[in-house]
Amino acid sequence: MRLRDKHGRYITDLRVSITDRCNYRCVYCRTGNQGAQYSELPLSDYLRMVRIMVGLGIEKVRLTGGEPLLRSGVVDFVRDVAMLRSLDGHKLDIAITTNGHLLADMVEPLKRAGLRRATVSMDAVDPEKFARITRVPKGYDAVLAGIRAARRAGLDPVKVNCVLLRGFNEDQIVEFARFSREEGVVVRFIEFMPLSSSCRWKKTAYGRPRLWSPWTRSWRSSTSSVPYASCPTPPARRRAATPSMTARAKLELSRRFRILFAGTVRASA
Ligand code: SF4
Repeated sequence: MRLRDKHGRYITDLRVSITDRCNYRCVYCRTGNQGAQYSELPLSDYLRMVRIMVGLGIEKVRLTGGEPLLRSGVVDFVRDVAMLRSLDGHKLDIAITTNGHLLADMVEPLKRAGLRRATVSMDAVDPEKFARITRVPKGYDAVLAGIRAARRAGLDPVKVNCVLLRGFNEDQIVEFARFSREEGVVVRFIEFMPLSSSCRWKKTAYGRPRLWSPWTRSWRSSTSSVPYASCPTPPARRRAATPSMTARAKLELSRRFRILFAGTVRASA
């Protein structure tokens, strides 16, 4: 039996949060504000669940957290997951979403264990803004080193996810465009998902973050000075592609240089 959603589409992707802990304290994040709320299962239990889900048609496994690289034994866990085979007998597509802080030292063993892709959460390409959002000093250099090490190790693609917060980092769009081209990574601007009471912002010493969305503000004007491209995906194509796409608009000049705008809750409301 293969898992299907209510539209009859096969479910092939599984996200596994192997820890709720994080070494960053991002201003918009529950974990960043309240710390870990959930205990961790032994990795052998996660592996058992992944094995069961693979038996139901899962082909892609993404490790997340918290910060998954904080979990001791993560390399062995990736190796164990990589031993599994899909229902069609293929190797699994194993990815990780990480804040990148520990990636530089861990990416080689992770790649050897079977990791194929990485998505790095990164909300600014300006070290000071980065520290203001993560509330951890000097993290930017570590994350940049992690992204470069991931590319050197051969992870493909390496993606960067940026949560845009009005008043915090909306001025980073053009800088991220440059970063995407210079570092050879795919940048995705994602909308903050106000799924819990944590979306009721309290004003802090860092100010009050506000949501930024391509749907509530003209992102064309924000990107009008991008020297590389000025042609969003045409609306008709966007509509046609919507049911299976996370990103709702994109600038794409080459396979490597892509900037994606991903609407989440409000875009699908
Ligand atoms: S890196 Fe991710 S999990 Fe950690 S505090 Fe920031 S948003 Fe939350």
